[in-house]
Amino acid sequence: MNIHEFQAKQVLGRFGTPVPKGQPASTPEEAAKAFDALGLPRAVVKAQIHAGGRGKAGGVKLVNSAAEARDFAAKLLGKPLVTHQTGPEGRVVRRVYVEQASEVARELYLALLVDRKAESIAVIASTEGGMDIEEVAAKTPEKIITEPIDPVIGLGGFQSRKIAFALGLRDKQVNQFGLLLASLYRAFNETDASLLEINPLVVTKDGSVICLDAKMSFDDNGLFRHPDIRELRDPNEEDPAEIEASKFDLSYVHLDGNIGCMVNGAGLAMATMDIVKYYGAEPANFLDVGGGANSQKVAAAFRILLADERVKAVLVNIFGGIMLCDVLAQGVVDAAREVKLSVPLVVRMEGTNVDKGKQILKDSGIKVIAASDMADAARRVVDAISQRA
Ligand code: GDP
Ligand code: MN
Repeated sequence: MNIHEFQAKQVLGRFGTPVPKGQPASTPEEAAKAFDALGLPRAVVKAQIHAGGRGKAGGVKLVNSAAEARDFAAKLLGKPLVTHQTGPEGRVVRRVYVEQASEVARELYLALLVDRKAESIAVIASTEGGMDIEEVAAKTPEKIITEPIDPVIGLGGFQSRKIAFALGLRDKQVNQFGLLLASLYRAFNETDASLLEINPLVVTKDGSVICLDAKMSFDDNGLFRHPDIRELRDPNEEDPAEIEASKFDLSYVHLDGNIGCMVNGAGLAMATMDIVKYYGAEPANFLDVGGGANSQKVAAAFRILLADERVKAVLVNIFGGIMLCDVLAQGVVDAAREVKLSVPLVVRMEGTNVDKGKQILKDSGIKVIAASDMADAARRVVDAISQRA
């Protein structure tokens, strides 16, 4: 789960991380009030969407008066902002953040993430802050340093100092940075975060080190331990199909292809996507209906798949272990009738009650292309879309 910048800064503030003071606003009037509440000659107004690249896209502006804050907020609110991370349709700005402006001397990059190879949280840092870090990694990888943190020992002072020196920090900044990094590490651990990115971390003209931007993502499996963080979810920023799927406890991820896949088990779902690609087509989604799905759940999954207009054919690939093939077949039939299925449907089923399942499909009168094995299923579904194209 991702959260907005202003929310991430609120969370970090609780851990003592130095972040500028600010207030979110959802109307131009509120933005003007937030400027006055800061009581400072200058503020920065920032569009709040779950995407970076706002600065370059015109979503961040320094303002010198409440009127200017109001005008800029009016320009942003209610309209989509297109950045290099949003796709061409952009994201509608529903809130801005009005924050105390900082006098920036240097922009640095700092992130914490789960490093699976090192089996630990790692700190990533670079002197090239405020830029697209992927670009830095591609062009000048030597400018990125990675420091894994031993989960048992925790963040060592020597590690903070090493990173601070690599970032060109000196004197009292080294200590400040040590405290800042320790607070980030604590925040990351205690909230079950999966990513914490500060881009840029800045050195201000008066020499302080603060977080100018903050992006935070959390491990969904840990959210039950953090009801306060779960409340920060913004459904406006999420894929409606994925929200619908989560209501039915389905693991669904929207992709860009045109073959809808319904599979049980994450491993089989991955293998199904691979084989669809192997035969030259692209999956429209990853969908694991789980082990003990009932026919309502299968029907819901089917509806979600078909709601995607790009889906030109559906491939059902089920291995009936705990899941019974007749239950699956009934769910598919119910949903196909309900949505008036109009695209080719290829079904490959194997396992418990497979004969009963096949009979249900046969008796339903729905046109089903039966496949004998996975390769056959993939071939048939790819054939089905090429014939229609
Ligand atoms: P992003 O473009 O979505 O990553 O948004 P950021 O929060 O990183 O802001 C983009 C850029 O705006 C930063 O890299 C800074 O250069 C600039 N910026 C943001 N806040 C301030 C501020 O308070 N003072 C100054 N001088 N620049 C700022
Ligand atoms: Mn940024």
